[in-house]
Amino acid sequence: MKRTVAIVGSGPGGMYAAQGLLDKDPDCLVDVIERLPSPYGLIRGGVAPDHQKTKRVARAYDRTMGNPRLRYLGNVEVGRDIGVAELLDAYDSVVLAYGAPHDNRLGIPGEGLANVFGSNAFVGWYNGHPDFTDLDPDLDVDAVAVIGVGNVALDVARVLAKTPAEMSVTDLVPHAADPIHASRLTDIYMFGRRGPVEAAFTNVELREMGELEKALPVVDLGHFPETVSAPYMSDRDLRLRQRNVDTMRAFADVDPAGKDKRVHFAFFSSPVELLGSGRVEAVRLERTVVDENGKVSGTGEHFEVACQLAVTCIGSRAEPIDGLPFDERRGIVVNDGGRIAPRLYAVGWLKRGATGTIGTNKNDSLAVVDLVIDDWDGEMRPGRKAADEMLKRRGARVVSFPDWRVIEQIEIDAAPEGAPRRKFVSPEAMLDALAGAAEHV
Ligand code: NAP
Repeated sequence: MKRTVAIVGSGPGGMYAAQGLLDKDPDCLVDVIERLPSPYGLIRGGVAPDHQKTKRVARAYDRTMGNPRLRYLGNVEVGRDIGVAELLDAYDSVVLAYGAPHDNRLGIPGEGLANVFGSNAFVGWYNGHPDFTDLDPDLDVDAVAVIGVGNVALDVARVLAKTPAEMSVTDLVPHAADPIHASRLTDIYMFGRRGPVEAAFTNVELREMGELEKALPVVDLGHFPETVSAPYMSDRDLRLRQRNVDTMRAFADVDPAGKDKRVHFAFFSSPVELLGSGRVEAVRLERTVVDENGKVSGTGEHFEVACQLAVTCIGSRAEPIDGLPFDERRGIVVNDGGRIAPRLYAVGWLKRGATGTIGTNKNDSLAVVDLVIDDWDGEMRPGRKAADEMLKRRGARVVSFPDWRVIEQIEIDAAPEGAPRRKFVSPEAMLDALAGAAEHV
């Protein structure tokens, strides 16, 4: 008996679930359904363009895609081309892995001003994500406020701070590279509402900020304790935080010679309002203090910093499709260890929220795969045939994995010298390229 499973979303959560199913159930058939023609979610559209080593995990996902028991159904949107209930009618189990691509909101006045963006939109824009190709941020600015002090904030600050030469070996898309590199930007502020000890950076990523060709990390040494002590942190956490604090303290020794940009690590600064008439002109912040349990409170002292572009990097949330039960507070689909409803599961950021590294998804997805296998009642549903008929009726133009390989090769062939690829930035451009390639065979 061949069990059929649909996985919705081809980011890390979905791809580890697919590989887990193929490994643990040697008979099962897996369909990975993806809204875009291009697979791998945040690996392509989220991981920073200058982190090509991180993106290499895609090679492992390619091997999963190459398994003859797996089909890739790209360019198919669940909720539009096919519903969750229809998937449950067709497949024995359905695993939702469509991520958390929506920006959390600060909830302060001025958030709606022009040139204020959430990180998913801004990162998507410079990464060529089709949803954000037309974002069109104005980079004719002196100063940028990056709000939040996690790894996404580091990505945004670094991509804005790096020189054209540093970015020439990346796949930063031209519609972003051109305005970023023409910009007169000199000051990038990263605002943390708590202190350097509480910052969510990982150390490898933090250290990069001390190695930028033309940008100087600026720190206020008065913000850094000699020794990190926090009763609520584990010994491991304390060690990691101490390393971050030591790294940031060492930024004070970076030679400023030849640097024409500054990246300010501005802690104990909580944004209370974005100011401007029509478009952002400054951010108003409240000075904060943090107690020994990491809790933050305002001091009542306010100050303003001029900025003409603001990017909030304060985490992400999912959204429900097809009326799925939703936890508004956590921004995830309600689930119990991955179970949403009979035969319906969630993995990745949709299941646990926007936390952890790419690798975190591996064990997390494997645990859900165990549930999928244990729960199966043995009843067979019509499987792929029913799903294919439905997609055909709706006129979906399904992109297979071999199709994607053709598109990908065109991107690679078009890469400027030293760069890995030149990305297509719309589904239409990908489909046109595919059609063009088919005409030439
Ligand atoms: P994150 O790590 O959760 O950081 C969010 C930041 O936003 C924190 O500094 C948080 O401060 C701040 N914040 C939240 N609400 C705020 C508010 N209302 N006002 C001011 N600041 C606020 O989220 P992320 O940076 O989006 O990253 C998501 C996950 O992806 C993380 O696990 C991250 O490590 C991972 N990631 C990894 C890489 C990599 O290169 N390894 C790159 C990108 C992302 P508080 O702590 O005070 O809440």
